[in-house]
Amino acid sequence: MSTPQPRANVAEIPPYVAGKPPTIRPGMTSYKLSSNENPYPPLPGVIEAVQAGVGAMNRYPDMGSSALYAALAETFGVPADHLSVATGSVGLIYQLVQAFCDPGDEVVFAWRSFEAYPIAVTAAAATAVKVPVLPDGRHDLDAMAAAVTDRTKVVLVCTPNNPTGPAVTQAELDALLARVPSHVLVVVDEAYLEFVRMDDAVDGIATYRRHDNVVLTRTFSKAYGLAGIRVGYAVAPAPIAAALRALSLPFGVSTIAQAAAIASLERRDELLERVDALVAERDRVVAGLRDVGWDVPDAQGNFVWFGLGERTRDFASAADEAGIVVRPFVGEGARVSIGESEANDRLISVAAVFAG
Ligand SMILES: *Cc1c(COP(=O)(O)O)cnc(C)c1O
Repeated sequence: MSTPQPRANVAEIPPYVAGKPPTIRPGMTSYKLSSNENPYPPLPGVIEAVQAGVGAMNRYPDMGSSALYAALAETFGVPADHLSVATGSVGLIYQLVQAFCDPGDEVVFAWRSFEAYPIAVTAAAATAVKVPVLPDGRHDLDAMAAAVTDRTKVVLVCTPNNPTGPAVTQAELDALLARVPSHVLVVVDEAYLEFVRMDDAVDGIATYRRHDNVVLTRTFSKAYGLAGIRVGYAVAPAPIAAALRALSLPFGVSTIAQAAAIASLERRDELLERVDALVAERDRVVAGLRDVGWDVPDAQGNFVWFGLGERTRDFASAADEAGIVVRPFVGEGARVSIGESEANDRLISVAAVFAG
């Protein structure tokens, strides 16, 4: 008897391995450092804005997210029709691949990079072209440009790169854009943009203004601490933003998500001060790791990468015993988020045992 069959690509979609919650240990506070979340709780004004929205949950959200578009346009100095919001920037990445790829078209991205890329690409029946990152965890942009073929429709640049940490420079991005044909969409995934502190950092807004094929994807999940409420946005030339909006899930961004995002933009200075504190912690952790003999890649996000190879599983178990949950990529390494300072101290102690 025949049964309904999903398209062949559906069976090929790799699973998303989410960061585990911490193991509960009696008498010990455990910390989750496995999902690059922001350790700070939501700001009071943000909680109140969400609470006000909760009372209206019998109503559909504003489908046009008009107040959120207005707030984003004002904050970033871009026209509202150059924006598209979605349920997290993961939603935008799905929509971009769907909008620009026919089955079999190629999407070039670095690997290892963000876990959702091969999922989104396979879900659209497109073909993932993975270009290995350099030994220091940076994108190999020369190799990525060389990997572009007649079938390539999208190039994804993850900067800073999750999980390895380094960011691309403006000069490197400009060189890539000069080599990629103008009909190929270049997505700059700026999920961790607010954490970047380096010379010649990418200016995403200036870059998209200069190129008709550049889209920036950004999120409220990391620096703004709204991972649980699901909201992100893209900045792109109007035709690309329109394609994204056409594909968006109707009413996807809930009333409370819109309210939380707007309240966060209103409190951006306060949130960015927290980012400064996290960056200071990150730099303290990286210095501490280097002191105990670790050569970790440049960390421009809110996480650190340990290239542990075969020792990854042991490292994850040792961390778990110390009450911190990390994100292992078995056989490759572990990504550890910057969290509460106590958690970060424990990380340095565990890592010291694995140094060298
Ligand atoms: C976390 C992350 C995102 C976005 O996550 P959302 O919560 O869906 O906004 C996008 N790209 C990268 C590289 C990430 O690490």
